[in-house]
Amino acid sequence: MDNSLYRLVYYSRNQIGDDGAAFSSNVDEILAKSQVNNLRDEITGALLFNAGCFAQVLEGPLERVEAAFERIQQDERHGEVSLLAVDPISHRYFPNWAMGFIGTSEAHAKRFADVGSSSGFDPSRLSGEQIHTLLRDLAIEEEAA
Ligand code: FAD
Repeated sequence: MDNSLYRLVYYSRNQIGDDGAAFSSNVDEILAKSQVNNLRDEITGALLFNAGCFAQVLEGPLERVEAAFERIQQDERHGEVSLLAVDPISHRYFPNWAMGFIGTSEAHAKRFADVGSSSGFDPSRLSGEQIHTLLRDLAIEEEAA
């Protein structure tokens, strides 16, 4: 297997619904499963939820990142999954995160809103690079807190 590192970025629409308790328990399940699978697959990254959308960065060996994305695309807990970028990277940007979940605090929601407003809150108008940079900045802040 080619062990070169790649980064994949996508966004999708939440299909779980807005009910707080149901949403939290679904996200907890997704994160628990992601952390087990991603450790196994040498995948790291971060998942952001805000304004009804998920955005995720997955980084690791290409074959494994693509296999994870195949499974993720089939998942009915979200829809309209749109691939934004798949690029080679020289190093991991989320080395300590099998899958971090960010963006739920008020401060993070505001940062997402600031980036989102530049696209008219249409994630399809955000680039993979913008989403990657936002997630990386939020992850650095979260680790420092
Ligand atoms: P199993 O856990 O055995 O699941 C079998 C099947 O059941 C899968 O098709 C799964 O999609 C489906 N399933 C399981 N529980 C539910 C449920 N409560 N509701 C609906 N369908 C369900 N997986 C990763 O491995 N890494 C990630 O980084 C990752 N990120 C995700 C981000 C988002 C926004 C979402 C929605 C899902 C994510 N997942 C991730 C989960 C992924 O979609 C698959 O569910 C998971 O990878 C399947 O793992 P498994 O092959 O071990 O199958």
